[in-house]
Amino acid sequence: MDLLAYWRIDNYRRDLDEGAGFHFNSKQPRLHSAINTGQTLWLFTRIVGGSGLSEYRILAKLIVCAKTINPPSYKYGPFRVWADLSLSEYYRATVDPKHDAYELLRLIPLASGSFRECDRTSLARAAQSIRALHPKASILLQAFCQQIPIETRAHAVLDERQLETAYQSTQAELKLLLKDEALAYSPERRAGLLSSYPRNRQLVADVNQLYCGRCQLCGFDSPTIYGVEAAQAHHIIYRSRGGPDSLENLVLACPNHHTVIHQTEAKFDYARLHFIFPNGRVEPLCINEHLTPASAT
Ligand SMILES: [Zn+2]
Ligand SMILES: [Zn+2]
Repeated sequence: MDLLAYWRIDNYRRDLDEGAGFHFNSKQPRLHSAINTGQTLWLFTRIVGGSGLSEYRILAKLIVCAKTINPPSYKYGPFRVWADLSLSEYYRATVDPKHDAYELLRLIPLASGSFRECDRTSLARAAQSIRALHPKASILLQAFCQQIPIETRAHAVLDERQLETAYQSTQAELKLLLKDEALAYSPERRAGLLSSYPRNRQLVADVNQLYCGRCQLCGFDSPTIYGVEAAQAHHIIYRSRGGPDSLENLVLACPNHHTVIHQTEAKFDYARLHFIFPNGRVEPLCINEHLTPASAT
């Protein structure tokens, strides 16, 4: 079923500032149990409008392409859904009262129950638990969203391969890459990615050392066989999309696996410590020393 979830406006804004992730996290198991891939997760928030009243905004339409479990004790809960980048949209949280979705949400057909009795204040509270939508609801939401400007910043994101390559090259090269005007990065975001360069270099060296340059997926051991290091550190949640610079966010992969992971946008599940490919293939880590399996509860 399609779902409707409340998203705190500050989390939405941070997502845009750090590189829109096109994913959503929750502590509620319903985020996994009530939606299938190909279905839509609608996200909305409450803002204080110009008149001082609570107003509502639809923030995103995420077409789910994968469901995974987050690392242990992840701040925003164990459940994550990933959205298809080409089909999903972020909307601008404008101050224009024309974009107020209160009436739409109040009357939106839910799979069970309704928000009909909710006033402008209580609607946000009532919607804290993720709701399953009646099939007609997405048609109404889609029609409403046609008038809302797309948040282009969500799509202005650096190619992750380029970023990872620059991170493993020189700081000057990274600086050059981040200057790309088309990506419309804020000065803060550029500064953040640049200042993490030394730390990232260290983590990449650490993960290489930990596995003696072997691929965690297939064990390909270029240092022993050929006397050269070929493995590459991969950021599970892309740095370009707000992923952290931490060992927990890194996997060491041979160039073939790394290429395929990016080309297919494979997702990583921390419960089973495996990659999920869009064609249904699943590949576990055959070598792992640094990731702890997470539980869904
Ligand atoms: Zn490999
Ligand atoms: Zn990578």
